[in-house]
Amino acid sequence: MMFEKLIIATGNAGKYKEFKEIIRSCTDKFANEIVFAPDIAKMIVDETGRNYSENAMLKAKAWSELSGLPCLADDSGLEVDALDGAPGLFSARIIHGNDVEKVSWLLHELEHEAERNAHFTASLALSVPNEYILITEGHCYGMIADSPRGINGFGYDPVFIPDGYELTFAELSQEIKNHISHRADAFKKLISFTQNKYA
Ligand code: IMP
Repeated sequence: MMFEKLIIATGNAGKYKEFKEIIRSCTDKFANEIVFAPDIAKMIVDETGRNYSENAMLKAKAWSELSGLPCLADDSGLEVDALDGAPGLFSARIIHGNDVEKVSWLLHELEHEAERNAHFTASLALSVPNEYILITEGHCYGMIADSPRGINGFGYDPVFIPDGYELTFAELSQEIKNHISHRADAFKKLISFTQNKYA
């Protein structure tokens, strides 16, 4: 087993659940116990990085320094071509409001816009105290739907249709999302870097 205990350094319960499922579906040798960061301490890490990788690294480092345990963090966002890559790094805070309001903001920005291409990006940082920090990046390409559909997932899932599908992430099963998502892509890259180390 690579780690006895691994912390998922996020305050977002939806992301934590996804990470657990992605890890379990890729390998049963990554961690014996996978812990939700807010269950061990209260800490908010300011996302002051200039890009996804810097933010993921800030979160993974802060949590592994606090806990002395290996920590996995991500930073992710949705980049919409017709909006020059917005909301991007600011996907979680582009407006004050909940996920439904953020989806409404996006649909309003794209009103009468025929070009609907978009992609999600996720950077993952794995921080192992006193050893190393490893960073990978993953993507998932698709388009923005005309209206929200489906109830699964979180964030912009109800309006994101991944390439090769007609359903939104919120309509597809978690199993399919976790197979093709930006986080799954980044995690598979992380596994391929680490598997030699712990083989
Ligand atoms: P983070 O927590 O700073 O990484 O914020 C990422 C934001 O991007 C989330 O709050 C969502 O709004 C959006 N986002 C990232 N990944 C996903 C996803 O898989 N589905 C839907 N929205 C996502």
